[in-house]
Amino acid sequence: MKVDYIIVGCGLAGIAFCELLKKNKKTFVVFDNNSQLSSSVAGGLYNPVVLKRFTPVWKSKEQLELALPMYLNIEKELNVKLDYKIPVYRRFTSIEEQNNWFTASDKVGLSGWLSANIKKNDNPSIDAEFGFGEVLETGRIDSPLLIESYQKYLKEKKVFFSEEFNYNELVFDDNSIIYKNINAKNIVFAEGFGIKKNPFFNYLPLKEAKGELVIITAKDLKIDYVLKSSVFLIPLGDDKYIVGATYNWKDKTNNITQEAKEELLNKLKTVLKCNYDVVDQVAGIRPTVIDRRPLVGVHNKHSNMYVLNGLGTRGVMIAPYIAEQLYNFIDNSKPLESEIDITRFN
Ligand SMILES: Cc1cc2nc3c(=O)[nH]c(=O)nc-3n(C[C@H](O)[C@H](O)[C@H](O)COP(=O)(O)OP(=O)(O)OC[C@H]3O[C@@H](n4cnc5c(N)ncnc54)[C@H](O)[C@@H]3O)c2cc1C
Repeated sequence: MKVDYIIVGCGLAGIAFCELLKKNKKTFVVFDNNSQLSSSVAGGLYNPVVLKRFTPVWKSKEQLELALPMYLNIEKELNVKLDYKIPVYRRFTSIEEQNNWFTASDKVGLSGWLSANIKKNDNPSIDAEFGFGEVLETGRIDSPLLIESYQKYLKEKKVFFSEEFNYNELVFDDNSIIYKNINAKNIVFAEGFGIKKNPFFNYLPLKEAKGELVIITAKDLKIDYVLKSSVFLIPLGDDKYIVGATYNWKDKTNNITQEAKEELLNKLKTVLKCNYDVVDQVAGIRPTVIDRRPLVGVHNKHSNMYVLNGLGTRGVMIAPYIAEQLYNFIDNSKPLESEIDITRFN
């Protein structure tokens, strides 16, 4: 079988790259062994503002401009609902925080995203004496559904291999890469934290940031916005909500833990005043990088081998942006932005 590309990893990064290959009429096959779960469990929020510091997310405007049309295209092609436009309300804990919000909402780069009006809380199930600030142009991509339906779609097209990619079986020819019976012009690795097993790119400083979420049902909560306090509360419909997320910099497993559940529920207590039931818990490892920038580029010996990784905590927004950068680098010889280029770690 001859193809233009082999893609290893079908999470948010791999999918964003596949979309560009489709758009540019390139042939490809995809491998995924379900060993990493970050994209399959993610809350899926997109939000152009860092709510801890009231600063814009890096390249947020450029990222959203690419991401939203891409998810819309996938929705149409796969006939699934993925993008839920929903505001994010940042809960204030003091007058000082309200004032900081007002100041930030006036700043260049933030004024279109932070509403200057303070929202009062009239929901008896929520403790929010100082009200909320509303972030505009936010939403949620149903990331678990995206992964499931995209992989199903690729399977139907007979270009998806639900198996482990075995790095030792790669053979390099003059201008191509041979893997089993596949002859490809290029290979792109997008394995998330799975990169640690990749002998070609495991030198890159990718750090695990395990995250866990619990899913609750709370029939009296009735909120139609994402509530950001010490935890996120994300409505899923039918009185179901995601509560998240934890950060663990040591645990490299996808196992759910009692410790994370307790941490989330203790934080939830500070904001929620109604009853709820925990109905599920999930975990995955975010692929993060020390300098908080993604890992994109070409291998230093094999000129047709590439990496697309380091999506960190904001994979939904960043994946389409860096996928486009990589595609333009490979096919249109456009240089990569130095901030994301892996040569910064040479
Ligand atoms: C709890 C939690 C909540 C999150 N919430 C949000 C959020 O609200 N918004 C947001 O934008 N981001 C969120 N994130 C971050 C986001 O999930 C990540 O940035 C993103 O999923 C990373 O995507 P990826 O494709 O790089 O990696 P992954 O999702 O890890 O995908 C890599 C894929 O490669 C496959 N793979 C690896 N090695 C091999 C191999 N050898 N052979 C075959 N296949 C292989 C894996 O099975 C996997 O499917 C969250 C993450 C977590 C854990």
